[in-house]
Amino acid sequence: MPRPITAVIHRQSLQHNLNVARTKMPNSHVFAVVKANAYGHGIERVYQAFKSADGFALLDLAEAKRIRALGWKGPVLLLEGIFSEQDLFDCDELNLSFTIHSQYQIEWLARFPRPARFDVYLKMNSGMNRLGFAAVHYRDIWQQLSQLNNVQSITHMMHFSDADGERLGRDGIEHQCQLFEAITHDLPGACSVSNSAAILRHQQLQSDVIRSGIMLYGSSPDFPAHSIDDWNLQPAMSLRSEIIAVQQLKAGDSVGYGSKFIAETDMRIGVVACGYADGYQRITATGTPILVDGQRSSLVGRVSMDMLVVDLSHLPSAQVGSEVVLWGTSKHGTVLSIDEVAAGSGTIGYELMCAVTARVNFIQD
Ligand SMILES: *Cc1c(COP(=O)(O)O)cnc(C)c1O
Repeated sequence: MPRPITAVIHRQSLQHNLNVARTKMPNSHVFAVVKANAYGHGIERVYQAFKSADGFALLDLAEAKRIRALGWKGPVLLLEGIFSEQDLFDCDELNLSFTIHSQYQIEWLARFPRPARFDVYLKMNSGMNRLGFAAVHYRDIWQQLSQLNNVQSITHMMHFSDADGERLGRDGIEHQCQLFEAITHDLPGACSVSNSAAILRHQQLQSDVIRSGIMLYGSSPDFPAHSIDDWNLQPAMSLRSEIIAVQQLKAGDSVGYGSKFIAETDMRIGVVACGYADGYQRITATGTPILVDGQRSSLVGRVSMDMLVVDLSHLPSAQVGSEVVLWGTSKHGTVLSIDEVAAGSGTIGYELMCAVTARVNFIQD
């Protein structure tokens, strides 16, 4: 029998979450962001559920090819654009749209030897200072691009740095929206600005194309201000395992490497087949929630490579073979959001879902 750890991908939840994005912004085209192998869920595993999206957005050409191989004929957007001049041949053959964020990419486009009709997304650096053209140069760049014969359409694009909260005590999107609007308002073309946090918190924004990522996978972009329940989202991945041994501790006994946990009273613990080599972070704090047979319990001691320990003191019927949910939904229907677990290691749901390792068996329901 294989080790009992399994990542279950819930197609209905993916579909449900996509509908939440659509309902929030009914006048926008909804692009499903499936970069990083669909945030660790597997592009092939999410495809059916996301087929009703208006487009897919991702980073790697290899991932774009996988989407085309699945039969997708609609828009595919490369969020970081092309990485080499050669990539343009693939974009042409596979009909891929791409971001233009730097001058060198425009030079490649201008030199492209074939007759092509590219849909490009012109990225403005509106304050995040990662990718994009400075606002002062944006209109000149737009002019340059619109004169290229192989550019069929230019969508104005930017990315928010603080859509999940505030910035310097003010609304997190205000400064970027004002700049973007001032520069683009009288230029022709559609625009794309909203990520998950903006879709959920700022429905009033104009964004002809929305780029929904994390919300589709059932994690709240602004946890702990809002939980997945607040946003009506459902976990798309459940990391499940089982108890493989039970130990009875006496007061003063320790648990795991480094004896990081010392029992204050007699207690019962369960050893779970899940460790950091499965993607459950080693630095996760004692007390982080874990479900056992659908009931909340918590992590005890240091996570090791292949095992971790859960408190069973208040769960007398838990035993070897009991279901353990590290995050997601239990077979009993109880939900443990990945956001709560991520908080236990000082990170966010995004990182946990992307980091489930290759040795974990993935299944779909
Ligand atoms: C990843 C990404 C998104 C999606 O962000 P979420 O917070 O996951 O919704 C949107 N736009 C760009 C440019 C991205 O890189």
